[in-house]
Amino acid sequence: MPKIERARAGTIIAALLLAPAAVVAQVADTVYVNGNVYTVDEEFSQASAFAVKDGKFIYVGDDAGARSHAGPLTFVVDLEGRTVIPGLHDAHIHIRFGERELYPQIPDIRATLGEWASVERMQEVVRRSLATGAGMRPGPEPRWLVLRGWMSDVWDPPEWHRELIDAVAPDNPVYIIRYTHGSAANSKALELAGITRDTPDPEGGHIKKDENGEPTGEFVERAPPELLRLIPPLPPLSNYELSRNLVEGTRLALASGLTTLHGASGGTSYDDVMRELKLYEVGLLRVRINQMVSVDAAKQMGGPLNYENKLFVQSVKTLLDGALGSRGAHFLEEYEDYPGFHGEPRSSEDETAQTAIDLLKIGFNMRIHTIGDAANRIALNAFEAALKQTGMNGHDVRFALEHAQVITPEDIPRLAELGVIASMQPLHATEDMHFAEARLGRERLKGAYAWKTLLENDIVVATGTDYSVSPYNPFYTLHAAVTRQDRNNNPPGGWYPEEALTREEALYAATMAGAYAMRAEDVLGSIEPGKLADFVVIPVDYMSIPAEDIWKITPDMTVIGGEVVYSRPVGADQGGLFKAAP
Ligand SMILES: [Zn+2]
Repeated sequence: MPKIERARAGTIIAALLLAPAAVVAQVADTVYVNGNVYTVDEEFSQASAFAVKDGKFIYVGDDAGARSHAGPLTFVVDLEGRTVIPGLHDAHIHIRFGERELYPQIPDIRATLGEWASVERMQEVVRRSLATGAGMRPGPEPRWLVLRGWMSDVWDPPEWHRELIDAVAPDNPVYIIRYTHGSAANSKALELAGITRDTPDPEGGHIKKDENGEPTGEFVERAPPELLRLIPPLPPLSNYELSRNLVEGTRLALASGLTTLHGASGGTSYDDVMRELKLYEVGLLRVRINQMVSVDAAKQMGGPLNYENKLFVQSVKTLLDGALGSRGAHFLEEYEDYPGFHGEPRSSEDETAQTAIDLLKIGFNMRIHTIGDAANRIALNAFEAALKQTGMNGHDVRFALEHAQVITPEDIPRLAELGVIASMQPLHATEDMHFAEARLGRERLKGAYAWKTLLENDIVVATGTDYSVSPYNPFYTLHAAVTRQDRNNNPPGGWYPEEALTREEALYAATMAGAYAMRAEDVLGSIEPGKLADFVVIPVDYMSIPAEDIWKITPDMTVIGGEVVYSRPVGADQGGLFKAAP
C-alpha cells in the first residue's frame, strides 16, 4: 500500500475509535471533591475538585465536573474542605539517610543541634560518649571518639578552641565534624597527628591558628590528611543496610509532603544509582528522585536515565567552594571577621567549563555548589563558556547554582540570560543570620539569600533544605521563605524582610520551580490535566493561616501518581511524626 493511503486509513480508524470518548466523559479511578485546591498553574487558579485516572489528573475544576468522571467503581473522596497543594519538591537534599551518623538524627536535626548549642552542652556530649562508648571507634587505646554536629556559631564567643574539649577528654583523641563543612579536634588528636604551628594548610583546607600562632584545633573545609589517616574507619554498611535506610528515610519524607527529592550528593556512584533503580523495580521506593551523581558515574552511565518518571539521573553535582559558617566559601573580598582570608575555589573556571562541555556531550548538565560571590562568578563564567562552545541554549540545559547564597549585584542578571537556576535553601538564611553579618558585613548581605531580588530578575528559584544541614520538613522551608524568621518568630519582622517571598511565590518555588529544574515541568509540579497526580492534602489553608504557623502544617495525605503513599494514621495527634523539637 502506498504510504499516503496507509496514513489515511490510519486516520479513519483512529477517528472511529475516538468518537465515543468525545461523547462520554472518561471514567476516573478516583475523584476528589469538596476541597480547596491550589493548582499552581500559570494563573495560580483555585479549584474544588479533580479526577485521577491511570496516575494522572484528567480533570481539574468544580465538583460537578469532577463527579461527571465518576463511574460505578470510581472511589470518590470527600475532602471536607481540606486544602490540596501539588506534591512538594526538595530541590537539594542529601538522601544519605543511610549514613550511620545521620540516621539517629531523623526526623529533626534540630534536636541534635540542641546538644551543641553551648560549650557546656557539647562537653556533656563528649563526657557521655566517653562513658558509654557511643561514637568511639574500634582500635587500640587511646581510642578515637568521632562525633558529628558541632556548631559554634551560636556560642558566645562563637569560636572553637581545642582546650574546650581537652577539659573533658584529656587522654582520648577527639574529632568532631561540624554540622556542615569543616571539623575540629582536641589537643590529643593534634599531638598524635603531629600537627603543630608549623604544619602547612592541607589542599582545600585551612588550619586555624589562635593569636599565639598555635592551631586552635578547628579545620576549615578539609582536615589535614595526616590526622584523618589515624581515625579507624567504621565498617562499611552492607547493601541491605543502605537499602533499608534509604527506604525508611524516604518514607519519612513522604509523610512530610515531599513527593520529589533532588538528591544532591555529588559522591553518588554508579552503584548507588543501580541500588535505587533496583528498589524502584521491586516497588520499595515510592518517592520520585532526581539523583545528581559524580562525574565518573555520569560517564559510566553514558547518558541520562528516566525510569518511569520515578528515577531521573541527568545532572552532575560538583563543589566550587565550602560553607559560610566554616569560612570555606570563596569571596571576591576578604571575610569581615577574618582579614586576609577569601576562601579558596575547589576548581578553576577552565576546568569547570571543560567538565561542563564533556557532560553536555553525553546529555548531562551540572549543578554546582556555590556559596561565595567569587565561586558563583566562576560557575557562571564556566557555564557561559560551555554554552558558547557547544552552541546549546541555556534555557534547555538548565545548569544550576546550588545555594547561590551570595551573588554580586552585577552577576545576578546573568542567571536569567544563561537560563541558570538558583537552587536555594530558605532555612539557611534563618540559620545563618546569627553569623552572616559578622562574616560578610552589611553591604555584601544585599546580594545574599536574595530570593526576591532573583525572582524580580526573572530567575527560576527552586527551594530545598540541604538536609542533613537543615531539617527536611518542606513546611519549615515555606515558613522561612515567607517570614524570613526562625520558628521562634525571630527576628521580629524578619531578617532583611524585603527578600521574603509571597506565599504564592514560596509554593511555586517548592513545586513548579523544582519540576522545571529537573526538566520535568510538563509532567510534574502543578495540579493540571495531563500531569502526574502528585499532591498533598493538608488540614489547614496554607494561604490564610497566620504566617507564623506555616511550619506547623503536617499532611493528612500524600499522593504520588494517584497512589496514596502516606495517610495520617487514624487517631494520630496533630503533631504526628514531625512535631518540632522544643
Ligand atoms: Zn548540599
